[in-house]
Amino acid sequence: MVRREVYGIRMADDASPIRTTACDPSLPRHDWTLDQVEALFARPFMELVFEAATVHRRWFDPSEVQKSQLLSIKTGGCAENCGYCSQSASFDTGLKAEKLMDATAVIAEAMAAKAGGASRFCMGAAWRELKDRDTPKLATMIAGVKALGLETCATLGMLTADQAQQLKDAGLDYYNHNLDTGPEYYAEVVTTRTYQDRLDTLQHVRDAGMSTCCGGIVGMGESRRDRAGLLHALATLPEHPDSLPVNALVPVTGTPLGERVLKTGEIDPIEFVRTVAVARLVCPKAMVRLSAGRETMSPEMQALCFLAGANSIFVGGKLLTTPNPEQDEDARLFALLDLKPMQPLHA
Ligand code: SF4
Repeated sequence: MVRREVYGIRMADDASPIRTTACDPSLPRHDWTLDQVEALFARPFMELVFEAATVHRRWFDPSEVQKSQLLSIKTGGCAENCGYCSQSASFDTGLKAEKLMDATAVIAEAMAAKAGGASRFCMGAAWRELKDRDTPKLATMIAGVKALGLETCATLGMLTADQAQQLKDAGLDYYNHNLDTGPEYYAEVVTTRTYQDRLDTLQHVRDAGMSTCCGGIVGMGESRRDRAGLLHALATLPEHPDSLPVNALVPVTGTPLGERVLKTGEIDPIEFVRTVAVARLVCPKAMVRLSAGRETMSPEMQALCFLAGANSIFVGGKLLTTPNPEQDEDARLFALLDLKPMQPLHA
C-alpha cells in the first residue's frame, strides 16, 4: 500500500522507493528539459533535499564518501582564458609558471596521498590541450600511480581521439573535463574554446572507454537558469558523468570573475546545496563531488551537502593552486558525521 508520494519517489510502507514517471531513481534519464531541471531548483528546500537523499540511497551507501587527491603536475602559463583561473597566462595573478613534474616525483606524491587515505589520484596540468610530446611521460606517471592501487584521473585540457586511447592504454581510469557552466553563460567565462570543443573531448574520452569526470563551477555571477543549464547539459549527455564535481568559485584576485565576485559576494549557501541536490537527482549514479570552496564551508554546510547527495571530496591542503581543508580537519569531519572513506572501484 502506498502511503506517500513526492516528486520522483513514491514511498511504500516498507519505505523503499517505487518507480514514478517524474524522476525514477532506478532509471537515470537523459531526456530532461531545461525547464524541468530549473523546476527542481525551485522545489521547497526540505522536499528537494529529502528527494535527493532518497535517490542517493538508491545507488550508494550514504555513509561512504570517496576521497580524491588532486596534484598540479604542471602549474601556470595556460593559454586558455578561463575567467576564474589563477593559472591562465591572460591574467596577472602572481602565479609562477612551472614545468611538467617528473614522473618519479608525481608517483611519490601519489604514495603520500594513498597513505593519507585517498583512493583516487588526479593529475592536473594547466594546458589548453595535451601535446603528443608529453604523452610518454604522462603514460609513465599514470602506470606508476595505477600500480599503487589507486584509481587514476587526469585533467590535461583538450584531447584527440588517439590521445584519449593512449591515456586509457596507460591505465587512466577517469578523465576530467568540466563544462564549467551552462551554455548561455559560457561566453562570460571563457572565449578561447567553445562548448562544443569540450563536448568533443568528452566524446573521445567515452569512446576510449574511460570514465568521465565532468561538472562545473557555481557562484561566478551566473543565474539559477544558468546553473540549471549546466546540470541539464550534463544530464543529457549520451552517458552521465561518472564523477560530477560541483565547485564553488574561490575568488582569485587578478582574475575577471574572481574580482567580480569579490565585489558582488559569493553564492548563497542554500542555493549551493540546491545545486548539489539537483545534480544528485538528474545524474543519480554519479559520484557528486564537493570540490573547490570547501575550505570556507562549515561542517554543518558540508553535512547538508552530503545529505543532499554529495559523496566525494578532494582531500589534501591544496586544490591545484587554491586552499583546501587539511587532512586532520577532514578526519574530524568524517568522525563528526560518522562517514567512512569509499574503497576504490577501479584499482
Ligand atoms: S581552468 Fe584549466 S584550461 Fe582554463 S585557464 Fe585554468 S588551467 Fe587553463
